[in-house]
Amino acid sequence: MEKRVAVLGATGSIGKSTLSVLRAAPAGHFVPVLFSAHRDLEGLLALHREFPRAHLALSREDHEEEEIDERFVHTTGTKISTNKKNLLALLAGSGADVVVNGISGVAGLEYSLAALGSGADLALANKETIVAGGRIAGNLARAHGARVIPVDSEHSALFSLLEAHRPPAAREGDAPSVELILTASGGPFLDASEEELFHVTPECALQHPTWKMGRKISVDSATLANKGLEIIEAARLFDVPPQDIRVVIHRQSIAHSFIRLADGSLYAELSSPDMRLPIHKALYYPERIATPFARLELPPIDPLDLKFEKPDGKRFPMLPLAHFALCAGELYTVAYNAANEVAVECFLSRRIGFMDIPFITQRVLEADWSGDASALEIIMDADARARADARLFISRLPA
Ligand code: NDP
Ligand code: MG
Repeated sequence: MEKRVAVLGATGSIGKSTLSVLRAAPAGHFVPVLFSAHRDLEGLLALHREFPRAHLALSREDHEEEEIDERFVHTTGTKISTNKKNLLALLAGSGADVVVNGISGVAGLEYSLAALGSGADLALANKETIVAGGRIAGNLARAHGARVIPVDSEHSALFSLLEAHRPPAAREGDAPSVELILTASGGPFLDASEEELFHVTPECALQHPTWKMGRKISVDSATLANKGLEIIEAARLFDVPPQDIRVVIHRQSIAHSFIRLADGSLYAELSSPDMRLPIHKALYYPERIATPFARLELPPIDPLDLKFEKPDGKRFPMLPLAHFALCAGELYTVAYNAANEVAVECFLSRRIGFMDIPFITQRVLEADWSGDASALEIIMDADARARADARLFISRLPA
């Protein structure tokens, strides 16, 4: 059966991997109906040449509409939709069966909600949707009979493992009914000393050893904030209490997380570190279709050669800070994410140092963020306050 697909953030790293999956699919299996980018007009133009029937949208607010009309209508005869409001409306009316959300940052939340509200399944790379708005996304999905299918590689693995082994929902007395063990590549600085971490440059932080990703998530992988966000994502997606979620460092990025059941059985999903694989799984879900992408072969991979280490929360404080935020409450996780987004942006523009990222996030989390993330307005208000706090603390840092 033909599936109509919308790709949000089509010009980014997840977007490009999604397009590879679409191109590799049997003709007519997927019908792209909508592509969005934020500012990459050229990227959308290239997509239009390949998929002329899909709608196109740029979400950035400050585009000169005439300028875009001129470029697009002249070159392609097609009108391109501009700004967030129009993209949200296009999404709601796109008739997509599945929406891939590859937007970076909490900016992706509203689009996820619009997708779920339209009854489409959400193939979700944008982890910030769950970190900031997990509760409302879950409520909307239930109300509209839509499914959230994780694309983040660890959560894609956990999703399949939990579906296959079906542990009981609740803890049995003191024993967890299931433990989630998230693997982390650890980023480029696992072996760096505390002193060396203070001198990390944006160029070095962007060199990830195993994954090729967008700038923000690459820095998050280097600070382990990415794993912090993923602990929160896992707790909310799978309704597992924080004390039953652990992180292990696994530099090879072959095992994409484990579950341990009450009887002690430990299960993992192994595959090459290639985002096309979890995207393929999510797009075809619930079917299991042969993939043309790098399959893992035994040999040369020897599962007994896979290495795991404990993470060091002292050198990488973004990890314990995420755990603190998860235990403290929903708006704490909104604040954790917002403070980190601001700090990473300032790190990339060289206004602050690498170790200022956890420092600023910690300062922001010292405020009172109690309250439930029960409505989008509440979440976006907490997000804005946390960003303002982060900017204030950054302005007070010694030059
Ligand atoms: P990129 O920076 O490579 O791409 C981001 C995409 O989102 C681009 O198409 C960009 O458009 C668009 N975009 C940026 N800002 C906005 C905005 N404010 N509103 C709407 N669209 C916007 O990011 P990644 O692909 O690396 O990551 C995307 C998401 O997926 C993140 O949440 C990340 O954590 C998650 N993820 C990514 C993985 C990866 O391997 N890359 C792995 C697992 C999860 P434009 O090009 O025009 O700027
Ligand atoms: Mg991940």
